[in-house]
Amino acid sequence: MRYGILSDVHGNLEALEAVLALYQEERIENFFCCGDVVGYGANPKECLEIVRGLRMLCIAGNHDWAVSGRLNPAYFNPVAKEAIYWTQKQLTAEEIGFLNDLQLVDKNDQLILTHGSLNEPESFHYMMYLSHAVETFRLMDRNLCFIGHSHVPQIIIRQKEKIWLSDTLKITMEPGCQYIINVGSVGQPRDGNPMAGYCVYDTKSQGIEIKRITYDIKLAQKKILQAGLPASLAARLSIGH
Ligand code: ZN
Repeated sequence: MRYGILSDVHGNLEALEAVLALYQEERIENFFCCGDVVGYGANPKECLEIVRGLRMLCIAGNHDWAVSGRLNPAYFNPVAKEAIYWTQKQLTAEEIGFLNDLQLVDKNDQLILTHGSLNEPESFHYMMYLSHAVETFRLMDRNLCFIGHSHVPQIIIRQKEKIWLSDTLKITMEPGCQYIINVGSVGQPRDGNPMAGYCVYDTKSQGIEIKRITYDIKLAQKKILQAGLPASLAARLSIGH
């Protein structure tokens, strides 16, 4: 089975469509989403419709829950907050209800999905340092956990007491190891590379790869400005930050 795992679409329809076109080429059979479908970008409704249409196993991001009212927008920075309030106005009560019902953690036989970390997932911690991964590894009842949230792709590996950061974003899983895969962001990358990020997991070969694809950044920026969203949300897409 070939799985497509994506995260942090943030209402960026152009980026999502580019990733999905590639997923078609990659013969992806099953889709997973690590949260933050909405917030920041100009097309939250359309992105939500696509994610739901593909029946992605999808968990809650902090922006999803802030838009639904389950998380207090007061904790967000002013730009994020403005985008959250704008997004609330674009969605129907039914769509808001869908976001509200998203769970913090979900899993299948092979993998776990969460937005930030498995420890206190409702607090949406960032996994910025390897020490932050310890608790999540301890709580994993599968060898594989996919996350998002930081918008920076990363593969963290644990073998017994040793935890390290993979120096490549293409790996083959080894028996006896656990893996935390941050798939990066489709709609607002923050690792200095403006291309949309997405992940492919082949259960047969046990291969996992985080890839990048160009998309129509100019169009996504134009829509953000036309919507009256903060201009900085458009500008950052060019630099991937
Ligand atoms: Zn996010």
